[in-house]
Amino acid sequence: MKLDEYRKKRQFGATTEPRGMDDARDENESLIYAVQKHMATNLHYDFRLEWHGVLLSWAVPKGPSLDPAVKRLAMRTEDHPVEYSDFEGVIPSGQYGAGTVMLWDRGTWHPENADVDGSLQKGEIKFTLQGKKLQGAWVLVRTRGFGKNPSGPAWLLIKHRDQYASAKDVTQEEPRSVTSRRLLAEIARDEGGDVERASQGDPSGKG
Ligand code: MN
Repeated sequence: MKLDEYRKKRQFGATTEPRGMDDARDENESLIYAVQKHMATNLHYDFRLEWHGVLLSWAVPKGPSLDPAVKRLAMRTEDHPVEYSDFEGVIPSGQYGAGTVMLWDRGTWHPENADVDGSLQKGEIKFTLQGKKLQGAWVLVRTRGFGKNPSGPAWLLIKHRDQYASAKDVTQEEPRSVTSRRLLAEIARDEGGDVERASQGDPSGKG
């Protein structure tokens, strides 16, 4: 079961995150792409690509960059249910991933090579995104690892050069939820989270 690790980490009575179904989607629908900005122990962006009924997931501490010269560390995390791509809210304290989650970007993705399992194995996935904030050609490449986790599942998320490449700092310039237009602090305020803590993930002066 691909969602075993996801479910094991969570108590579904305590968190409003979805438990996930095992056959959630029709194979012929276009593949979901989503990024969640997550103020947990540390701020990070959860980058998710639907594949075989789950969301392949990477935690990107600095978030994506539109600049092809910038490589962003992306740590592979457990597969998430497809329904997670709708989740925005507060994970209660004491629960896994406790903190505020914003749906930062969402859309569809298309793998350049249809053999995504092979690409995962090989450690290089080339794809295009059709999101609201991120578009065009990207690549995820597995690396040998960084610092204290040399054998860890470290990848790099890199924009390819195309008309969507840009020097614009997209995480700073587009800090709001793609669906609710809220900042992290506003999500925390509306949903009973830690507003002070959440606001540390928002650009200053945008509240
Ligand atoms: Mn996360």
